[in-house]
Amino acid sequence: MNLKIASFPCGPIATNAYLVIDPETQQALVVDAPPDSAGVLQEEARDRGVQIALIVITHTHWDHIGDAARLRRETGAPLATHPLAVPRLEQPRLPLGDPSFTIEPVSPDHLLEDGDVVELGRWRFRVIHTPGHASEQISLYEPAARVLFGGDTLFAGGYGRVDLPGASVEQTAATMRRLLELPDEVTVYPGHGQPTTIGRERPWMIQVASSSPA
Ligand SMILES: [Zn+2]
Repeated sequence: MNLKIASFPCGPIATNAYLVIDPETQQALVVDAPPDSAGVLQEEARDRGVQIALIVITHTHWDHIGDAARLRRETGAPLATHPLAVPRLEQPRLPLGDPSFTIEPVSPDHLLEDGDVVELGRWRFRVIHTPGHASEQISLYEPAARVLFGGDTLFAGGYGRVDLPGASVEQTAATMRRLLELPDEVTVYPGHGQPTTIGRERPWMIQVASSSPA
């Protein structure tokens, strides 16, 4: 049986949290924990009778980690992310201009490096370090299911903004060069907006990839 993927746009800028379910084991992993996502994710997991076994954080922008500490505490699931994400998870950066907003710090239980594998039932999600929008950003690629969870690496029609601290247009170009190696059929589940495919985004990705030669 194929993976089941449910998306939940949460928080003030509709950041996608994903519940990725292996129907054979009834185990699930969560990709990103935006503000106000912990409740709906757990409700959905309960309704479907699945257990959240792991929380993966793609990168540490506030809109992706707002409920990370709460979700980890309430589910007991370990939290995993790239080593470069640790300082900002433990000392979250707040959205500009909103002093009322707080983010609870959290320490990861596992660190994910480029080339590591996250297992969910028979599925093997490869960790790809995809810096550019954020230096610590990782994507999860499952070649048999042909899915990529990329955080803010790429969206339908473009890549994650590079005018933020820790962002780099050169790294974005290098990341696109790597993701261009994926087959056209791969469905991309982004941090914002609707899913797309590598094939659909390939034309602009080629342009970006060649804009800043390695
Ligand atoms: Zn971001």
